[in-house]
Amino acid sequence: MARKNSPDINLNLNVRGLYQSATLYINEKCNELESNGKLVYKFGLGQSPFPVPQSVVEELKANAYQKNYLPSKGLKILREAVAEYHCIHNGICYTSDDVIIGPGSKELMFLLQYVYYGDILIQKPSWVSYSPQAHIIGRQVRWICTTRNNNWLFTAEELEALCNNDYLKPRIVILNYPSNPIGVTYTKDQLKKIAAVARRHKLILLSDEIYGELHHKGEHISIAKYYGEGTIISSGLSKWCGAGGWRLGTFTFPESLRWLLEAISVMASETFTSTSAPIQYAAVRAFKGGSDIENYLWRARWILSKLGNTIAKNLQVANIVTPNPDGAFYLFLDFNNFKNKLQEKNIFNSTDLCSSIHDETGVAILPGEAFGMKPGDLTARLAYVDFDGVAAMKAASKLNMKEQIDDSFLKKYCSNVLNGVKLLTDWINN
Ligand code: GLU
Repeated sequence: MARKNSPDINLNLNVRGLYQSATLYINEKCNELESNGKLVYKFGLGQSPFPVPQSVVEELKANAYQKNYLPSKGLKILREAVAEYHCIHNGICYTSDDVIIGPGSKELMFLLQYVYYGDILIQKPSWVSYSPQAHIIGRQVRWICTTRNNNWLFTAEELEALCNNDYLKPRIVILNYPSNPIGVTYTKDQLKKIAAVARRHKLILLSDEIYGELHHKGEHISIAKYYGEGTIISSGLSKWCGAGGWRLGTFTFPESLRWLLEAISVMASETFTSTSAPIQYAAVRAFKGGSDIENYLWRARWILSKLGNTIAKNLQVANIVTPNPDGAFYLFLDFNNFKNKLQEKNIFNSTDLCSSIHDETGVAILPGEAFGMKPGDLTARLAYVDFDGVAAMKAASKLNMKEQIDDSFLKKYCSNVLNGVKLLTDWINN
């Protein structure tokens, strides 16, 4: 399933050596196989299984008539709502002038890399598109190496080591937590230490907090609290609001980086013009929040936490190393304990590993290679999202307590994920 070097005939085209993004490729491929009657466990694309909250859907319906082009920076009332949201949820109180809206945070990230001339520092492993974006623009990527012992999250020391070889060089560091592809997050102390290094080296931190609301305990902290003057907070509707396909992302800047917001806005006006009007009106409702959205979020967190921890345990018991998740809906699997056994099956890299798993079990996961890991490092990302989020959310809304989301709940509403993981563990130990 994972794409090998020679892609399908009709995709036999690359742009600057790049093929279609791995996440989107695997999704389209899985859907195609499914429509041809194949059983696929879709753990490839990281898409929220939950529906968009009803009140936000209603707002979209009510605003379907909105047809005018909106300002390139975004609808004023939405920018106000986003600023207010960060003030209430993260204790970072900026104004609407500090916020820009885009058709997905992915597009805003691309434009940021375009308008800022510095190197891009990204950790291994990290989300599939950061590095290709830098590559398209021609920015230099510097990889921050991580270790298994630290759950593959980079540390302040590792960042410092990379920055020390050229003091005060212009750089953007991309920080992403709860992490895609690892599912773990930083502690307050770790964030403070990273903030101190960033301040010392005058780094720009692009803090990708798109999974912040999906911290399983609802305890996400923005690093902007400790390094406000250099941090851009990236967020959007895709993950916590279950609205990936709506394409709405937000960047929030400190006043000291206002010039970058203005530069992105110029680029926006010459490229996407403005983000879809009805979606922006609906997003106001999402960012303003309310008890219905809070309830929705708690249910999503409980389900993801129970499911993520259950399958992490099942994988660990089978000797596949994976950290227990703190947030989002990913597990990062390390199959290196099986290196010799896999070599006997002619599996030498993560792409072949994921292809064999898919061909022999129907389980679709993405190879570590797509996240910047060395090919021979036998790692993979599993997105535990292949279940009916509408049914699960509905069932959870009838329960009062987190404790009631138990094994029998998972068996009833998330069986596809449990079954897929079972096939995977049987495969590796067979
Ligand atoms: N962020 C999601 C993922 O990592 C999908 C969206 C995308 O890659 O554009 O699977």
